[in-house]
Amino acid sequence: MRLVNLEGRVGLDVAGRFVDLALHSGDRFSSDPMAAFARWDEIKTWAADQTAGAEGPLIDADKLGAPVPSPTQVFAIGLNYKDHAEEASLPIPDVPMVFTKFPSCIVGPNADVPLTGERVDWEVEQVVVIGQEAKDVTAARAWEVVAGMTLGQDISDRRLQFSSKPPQFSLGKSATNFGPIGPALVSLDEFPDPDAVGLRCWVAGEPMQESNTNNLIFTVPELIEYISRFCVLYPGDLIFTGTPGGVGSVRDPRRYLAEGEVIESEMDGIGRLSNRCVARG
Ligand code: ZN
Repeated sequence: MRLVNLEGRVGLDVAGRFVDLALHSGDRFSSDPMAAFARWDEIKTWAADQTAGAEGPLIDADKLGAPVPSPTQVFAIGLNYKDHAEEASLPIPDVPMVFTKFPSCIVGPNADVPLTGERVDWEVEQVVVIGQEAKDVTAARAWEVVAGMTLGQDISDRRLQFSSKPPQFSLGKSATNFGPIGPALVSLDEFPDPDAVGLRCWVAGEPMQESNTNNLIFTVPELIEYISRFCVLYPGDLIFTGTPGGVGSVRDPRRYLAEGEVIESEMDGIGRLSNRCVARG
């Protein structure tokens, strides 16, 4: 099942056409994207019958919002790919390095990114979407509390990120529109192996990042076990699971985002984000 948020209403993406959940279910389901988690299994069963003969409008990508527009919590993981830790000249962490992206930075898959300075960087990431309230989840059962996956960019202002001592990541990664996600929230059954999904990123057409989530240092189940030991997880919470090597701040020479450049991100089974960098308004 592929859920999208078209102008604030949740619906299925059936071969590129929008099947409005509330409209096509006779208001059995809500139009609110955040309400889908409470009835996830029912919606999935209903969605399975909507594959043929969908007559909804073609989905206009420019009108897509974030598939999870208002998560309660947004967790993010630093240094979770070996090649990224190595390029940053930092040791492989012994425990997950968890920070937050404040939820106000979450925007749709094609949102513009206002640049906050001269050292704004890209980070393509798998984003896990929690499906139910959970605490103290074991790794063995962790996928059971996941609704699905989407794709995200953990846009990062490196100057802000490292401006305090010791560094405090959250603000530098939470500026307006620094968290594009989408284009769809895809249920786990759509992935041949949810622990091995390819992802990549281009800036201004130049390939910058390419990896697979089977390279994660801490796997999704391990992250959920670790985080849920301390925090209650809520339906719609997001976990940005970390970025692979190839970010701009550790390239030689260093490379940062410039006005007019487009960041394109892609994840197998999910689709693409396209985010234009613009002047800060
Ligand atoms: Zn990141």
